[in-house]
Amino acid sequence: MKIVTRFAPSPTGHLHIGGGRTAIFCWLLARHFGGEFRLRIEDTDATRSKQEYTDSILASMKWLGLDWDGDLTYQSKRLDIYNAYIDRLLETGHAYWCDCTPEEVEAMREVARARGEKPRYNGKCRDRGLTAGPGRVVRLRVPDEGRIVFNDMVKGTISVDVSELDDMVLRRTDGMPTYNLAVVVDDHDMGVTHVLRGDDHVSNTPKQILLYNAFGFEVPTFGHVPMICGPDHQKLSKRHGARAVIEYEQDGLLPQALVNYLVRLGWSHGDQEIFSLKELVELFDGNNLNSSPAAFDPEKLKWLNAHYLRNTPFPQLAAMVRPFLEKLGYDVPAEKIEALLPMYVERASDLAALAQALTIYFKPAEELVIEEKAMKALNEDGKHQLSVLHDMIADMPEFSAEALDTLLHEYVEKGGLKFKQVGPPLRSALTGLAGGPSVHDVMAALGREESLKRIARAAN
Ligand code: GLU
Repeated sequence: MKIVTRFAPSPTGHLHIGGGRTAIFCWLLARHFGGEFRLRIEDTDATRSKQEYTDSILASMKWLGLDWDGDLTYQSKRLDIYNAYIDRLLETGHAYWCDCTPEEVEAMREVARARGEKPRYNGKCRDRGLTAGPGRVVRLRVPDEGRIVFNDMVKGTISVDVSELDDMVLRRTDGMPTYNLAVVVDDHDMGVTHVLRGDDHVSNTPKQILLYNAFGFEVPTFGHVPMICGPDHQKLSKRHGARAVIEYEQDGLLPQALVNYLVRLGWSHGDQEIFSLKELVELFDGNNLNSSPAAFDPEKLKWLNAHYLRNTPFPQLAAMVRPFLEKLGYDVPAEKIEALLPMYVERASDLAALAQALTIYFKPAEELVIEEKAMKALNEDGKHQLSVLHDMIADMPEFSAEALDTLLHEYVEKGGLKFKQVGPPLRSALTGLAGGPSVHDVMAALGREESLKRIARAAN
């Protein structure tokens, strides 16, 4: 059997990390089994759906590396198809027209509640033989008895008595299909074999199975992954550092880090933490999905990101840092960035921070701001050392990191000084910062002329 999975976002917001994780799981399952991964935009809610969100979701999918098979499906373009399927249910007696007003339906629910039963529609219009008309909806005729049982990939066996289920609306008064109807029609038409989604949808699944049965469609395998919660096990929120995928991209996270992080948040393979995409495709077969909610841990995400940053080849990393520098106003060739990366890659946790750290190399000496902490080193003695060193560096026959290192150490030794008297003032002068890579490396990267300008500026 060919495995077909799908991801079905509603374009009412950017792709959030919870949705991103669902998409990754569905993608992995399809890729593992050499099947298909389909993407469907659930945009029937015309007031809340926005093209900009569809665009943003697609961009995030691409950024995460999740390619999809076949054309994109837009539910908004399939309204006639849904109505044709609803007609089929009307013809076979699995659905009926209903003219009860929302107030009447609410009153029925109230009666059920008062009896201690599940609030639901009482079936008043089931046998009234109504036909289409203004203000009317189409409802599903739920069987009088029986149980809906399914084996969830994550939660195990789930069983619901049909008496718990409502004669749900399939077609609204405005002719629009409801979510459950559209999803079942689409999943069937798209040949979906495995529906993996967030467990906020688990209560919809028995209703959808009723529809599969009414249509006589084969029921797919379902899996409902628990929500991601905050480190405090409360509902995940921005406060916990959880945001839209696009925000992580803008912050300079590497997509591999986010994919790795999100997969581990809900799936495990022994106690392995780091997985390449290739490895994930090899290992992810839909087993070992956790049934309890995982807590979002921003520190672990940071750790993973630093790992991927360090393991990205420099030319590739330079190309990734470049747009971040551009955003900061520095249009720099990738080779220049690449040359600086060895000094900074161990120090930065994301691309934005890396770009920020490199800006000091691209601004003219006059624009270099010396941070408060770095000012301390520019005391009387510091300035004196700088002016002596300025002339020595100007006279060096060969200007290189190695030669600079030797020069500085000899200078300290011969003068009976401490390196503390030389390194910090130089660093302040060259970078404006109190911390950073070795000063001889920094000078070599800046070049002799620029280094001397900065040293002279700080000495005076
Ligand atoms: N469109 C639904 C959502 O964004 C998902 C529906 C589904 O996966 O069945 O929550």
